[in-house]
Amino acid sequence: MPYVSPWIDEELAILQDHVARFVQRELAPHRERWEEQGYVDREAWLKAGQVGLLCASIPEEYGGGGGHRGHEAIIMQEIGRAGLWGGFGAGTSVSSCIVAHYILAYGTEAQKQRWLPKMAAGEIIGAIGMSEPGAGSDLQGVSTSAKKVEGGYRISGQKTWISNGQCADLIVAVVKTDPTAGAKGVSLIAVEPAGAEGFRRGRRLSKLGMHAQDTSELFFDEVFVPEENLLGGEEGRGFAQLMHQLAWERLQIAINATVAMEAAVALTVDYVRQRRLFGKLLADFQNTQFKLAECKTLATVSRRFVDRLMVELLADDVDPETAAMAKLWTTETQGKVIDECVQLFGGYGYVSEYPIARLYADARATRIFGGASEVMKLIISRAL
Ligand SMILES: Cc1cc2nc3c(=O)[nH]c(=O)nc-3n(C[C@H](O)[C@H](O)[C@H](O)COP(=O)(O)OP(=O)(O)OC[C@H]3O[C@@H](n4cnc5c(N)ncnc54)[C@H](O)[C@@H]3O)c2cc1C
Repeated sequence: MPYVSPWIDEELAILQDHVARFVQRELAPHRERWEEQGYVDREAWLKAGQVGLLCASIPEEYGGGGGHRGHEAIIMQEIGRAGLWGGFGAGTSVSSCIVAHYILAYGTEAQKQRWLPKMAAGEIIGAIGMSEPGAGSDLQGVSTSAKKVEGGYRISGQKTWISNGQCADLIVAVVKTDPTAGAKGVSLIAVEPAGAEGFRRGRRLSKLGMHAQDTSELFFDEVFVPEENLLGGEEGRGFAQLMHQLAWERLQIAINATVAMEAAVALTVDYVRQRRLFGKLLADFQNTQFKLAECKTLATVSRRFVDRLMVELLADDVDPETAAMAKLWTTETQGKVIDECVQLFGGYGYVSEYPIARLYADARATRIFGGASEVMKLIISRAL
């Protein structure tokens, strides 16, 4: 019997089918062009908004789908299965499943009413600005400052590697409101770049993979932001706010890594069944069978692990250490599995037009962003 994830009920199965058809019809045909231009068309965001693919778990009163994180996971999985994670998938996850949740959890009622319905419609694209040239893993080291002035803050500093950086209409920036207070001096402030004097977008970074995902530098030179844009209304709570959301963010990366492994194994099984060498099919070599058996096992362990965590998340929550383990295990395993699959493709596995090569390049980032593997180990070891 084919395995069905225990958290996917009848309603989610219907959504899965709906998303898969939308992705094939409206998104997949544009993938190559988006990879060449380095970003996804705004029109695709608007279309996704129209059919309910954005902000699926944001309450209906704020224009969202009124669902839960299972709805978000289904949408992510189907986008990933179609090979669109490294562009549309990552971009919409950041906006709908991360930034929208910050606004929902910490924004004022007026901000929720102003931003969330437009985010759900694809009219506002969100970004999260944590990393800086001098501070990635060590977030306490951020130097972007927010100085208190009459009626608000003036933000100065630089962010880098910001997903959706070129197209973002709303940026949740990690800033220091008190540079002397360590973690307690970190705050989250929502910046609306349109017309903001002193705000500048830098380069769209040329990356090894994830070519359709806009990853950019952002510059802030005394940018004025009204005081109500301080999320949570109280300075110094940024670190705790970030930590509170991180388990789901890491589980999202684990889900996407698992989908990528499953896709790689499926592609490779198909390939070895038609590639002939030394007078037989590549699939008939015992080495091929053993390698694919190992890959399938690793992908299955990942699948069962993330499914178990999805069940826990939907029932209650997932603790930060287990979420870190899921990210660590699945992304490290993703690297191993896809590397073995590329090997079985031979030279074709190194050619970008083959989906396996794109999966390989996209996979390399998952061990770095959302907290590098070493940071995951730090989190896990602290709880031992
Ligand atoms: C495609 C992509 C998209 C991204 N999107 C965003 C985004 O939307 N918003 C955002 O804010 N950032 C984003 N990032 C940035 C990402 O989160 C950082 O790259 C990541 O946190 C690592 O920071 P760093 O690059 O400065 O590496 P560093 O912090 O310099 O770390 C370098 C290496 O040091 C090692 N290391 C780190 N910490 C430890 C430790 N405690 N113990 C031992 N070894 C350690 C690890 O091997 C690590 O890879 C993105 C990055 C990429 C590649």
